[in-house]
Amino acid sequence: MLYHENSRVLILGAGKSGLSSARFLSRKGCRLTIADDLQDASLPLDLSTVDLVCGPGSIASQLQKEWDLVVASPGVDIRPYDAPIVNDIEIFYQEYEGQIVAVSGTNGKSTVTSLIAHILQQNGIRAIAAGNIGLPPLETLDEDYQVTVLEISSFQLESIQTFTPDIAVLLNISEDHLDRYDSYEHYISTKARLFRNQSQEHWSVLNYDDPAIRTMANEDLIASQKVYFSSQNRQKTDNFINCTLKGIHGKVAGKFMDFPASRTALQGLHNMENMAAAVITACLCGLEPEQIGSGLEGFSPLQHRMTPIREIAGVQYLDDSKGTNIGAVAKSLAGMERVILIAGGRNKGADFARLSTVVRNSCKLVIAIGEARHHIKEALEPVTTVLLADDMDDAVQLAHKQAIEGDTVLLSPGCASFDMFDSFEHRAHIFVRAVEKL
Ligand code: ADP
Repeated sequence: MLYHENSRVLILGAGKSGLSSARFLSRKGCRLTIADDLQDASLPLDLSTVDLVCGPGSIASQLQKEWDLVVASPGVDIRPYDAPIVNDIEIFYQEYEGQIVAVSGTNGKSTVTSLIAHILQQNGIRAIAAGNIGLPPLETLDEDYQVTVLEISSFQLESIQTFTPDIAVLLNISEDHLDRYDSYEHYISTKARLFRNQSQEHWSVLNYDDPAIRTMANEDLIASQKVYFSSQNRQKTDNFINCTLKGIHGKVAGKFMDFPASRTALQGLHNMENMAAAVITACLCGLEPEQIGSGLEGFSPLQHRMTPIREIAGVQYLDDSKGTNIGAVAKSLAGMERVILIAGGRNKGADFARLSTVVRNSCKLVIAIGEARHHIKEALEPVTTVLLADDMDDAVQLAHKQAIEGDTVLLSPGCASFDMFDSFEHRAHIFVRAVEKL
């Protein structure tokens, strides 16, 4: 047991996840302190009796003291601290009795997490999507769900201890968050923590085409039974799903899984991979192919992922605000032509020059915004014209002026939003408003 009545608990971060841990642990009778380095952090009314220590240096100074338990929010960088630290995912795992599916990867997590939950729910299974997708899992405990599908970020994997998903899905790994990790290898090894407590009785769902994931499997870092998906025509069938633009086919646990792309509203090869990961997981949860097929239907692609906003004089405006790293931008641009790309925000250590090939092939113009705009200009100027914009309104106006019939104006920032906006949703909202004003 991580805690008992009267345990002295320090919670790092007064955001959504920290507050959910606080609510849960205060109900259990723990004595709580919440520390946040933001000067203006505050607590909601129901937690007003909890100690809050805020302002720069608060976390470091509280960690100097003795605690029975320290619980970190994913936004808090725990690298500088030696103390044993857990998070709400670990607490949830130790309390929950149902089946756990954990979905991680650099891109596609939310899509796959919600698609799995949708397929299960459509078939009468009491399932819920939680975790990084926005619902803190501790808030779902009272509902007694049969299956919890957890979206798990690398930050959350940093502070798990015994967390063991029954099914662990790792979609892909590409450079992201290099501002928080010492190196790309460090980011990869954090992702590998998803499997650290699994054994033969558990399952993993893995991208066969991803070199980092294959290395993990080859180096015996994954002890669970494996099912792979691939979009590179590998001609394997057992516990293997092949993805093409036309759909997916293969065999999982002896059952044929054959679904044309027309069964889903998701588009693009990367989304066929996402569909494969969800289909495999649903099968491992015990569903039959017909049930999975009908479960796929009725799933609407999530907002802010290549979402069409408006067409003006033959120019399409697309919102891909969730494209928060360069891997996602590359996937979104692949196969497109005559794109006016609006990119930028707070860079997470990525080198935009790595987008040179896809930008050369797909973009007629890049409009750079936010803190990263000068880096983007320098990195991509050799392959296309890059204009600097002051803010989102300015970027949309510039795009509108430059666009001619047949062009696509795409917001796919490749960056975090926090230099200019509260969240990727807020960024999308401001973009959509600017487009509507045109
Ligand atoms: P996440 O939750 O990991 O950020 P999302 O499902 O929200 O992922 O998708 C975010 C963006 O990532 C999408 O707009 C798309 O550009 C890209 N993406 C989605 N799925 C994949 C995938 N399987 N491989 C690569 N990129 C993907």
